[in-house]
Amino acid sequence: MTGRAASKKSTSRAGDPAPPSPSPRGSSSTSGESPPTQHSAHGRADGPAHTGLPSVGQTKSHIALPSVGYTKKTISLVYDFDGTLSPRPMQEYSFLPQLGIDAADFWAECTRLAKERQADPLITYMHLMYKKAKEKGLAIDRAALVAQGAAVELYPGVTDWFAAMGDYVRLRAETPGIELRHYLISSGLTEIIEGTPIRPHFHNVFASEYWFEPYETPFPKRVITDTGKTQYLFRINKGIEDLGESINGHMPEAERPIPFSNMIYFGDGETDVPSMALMKKSGGAAIAVHNPGLTSKTCEELFRAGRVDFYAPADYRRASPLFKRTCLLLDRILADIRVREEVWGLGSGR
Ligand SMILES: [Mg+2]
Repeated sequence: MTGRAASKKSTSRAGDPAPPSPSPRGSSSTSGESPPTQHSAHGRADGPAHTGLPSVGQTKSHIALPSVGYTKKTISLVYDFDGTLSPRPMQEYSFLPQLGIDAADFWAECTRLAKERQADPLITYMHLMYKKAKEKGLAIDRAALVAQGAAVELYPGVTDWFAAMGDYVRLRAETPGIELRHYLISSGLTEIIEGTPIRPHFHNVFASEYWFEPYETPFPKRVITDTGKTQYLFRINKGIEDLGESINGHMPEAERPIPFSNMIYFGDGETDVPSMALMKKSGGAAIAVHNPGLTSKTCEELFRAGRVDFYAPADYRRASPLFKRTCLLLDRILADIRVREEVWGLGSGR
């Protein structure tokens, strides 16, 4: 979580009917030996399978299962942002320097105020941000926050990571119709993330967000807490990414389009424990990362506690330990998908 972090982001088999889901952004897919066709689940011949780069389309995608064929072939890599893809909380790169506020002082004030008022620390930081901006006469609107995204530093290799993971999955899939998606679940701000160069790589971003218009001052529209992050993992799992739809209705495991076993969660610390715990309990995988220049102590604790499969320095370049360990988990997921597809085929009497 932002404040606390400082104070201590398919193609189906040929012949399958094309489901109604349009091409999402932030996805890479493979159709094995076959090039994507108009029968692809993306419905686009100019999809990412040709380029290895994410397609640009709609931000949200509600997955609809085709009526025939084994469908659970979407792999989701889910990331925390602050401390995981970027070394420091996103507010420290532009927002706080513009106001001339020391980051440590700001987060300390958030922590003190939240404790004093028994307030949610995330609502507190969002409130303090616009309070401080107002005091200094600085605009805090959507455009201003989006512009700040350009200043956010990313760990080495992050920019190229998404295409590289797509390349790896295409190389290793051995079955047509595998789709790779990247998701971001962050307590940070949607608007700042939108301004970062990596935003187009994400199929969807779930992050805290301001509601600028209805009141005299910006008001938190959505606040994503540590435990609240798990709701979004369930939304990915159930294919209910429209936040206007309830996530609480019962959906049998067999109907969920992206099994947790097709997911890897990336986080950097204690604020990711609820998400990591859910992933591990539900058959998914988790990786903890740490700043390459700082201690790995927290990661080691998470690893020893069985919260994560692996930990590694947050170096996303090819041949790094993080790259290698992620590929190992992808190999396991791809093998698992092939086994389940074979069992499905046997059961369906194909
Ligand atoms: Mg973090």
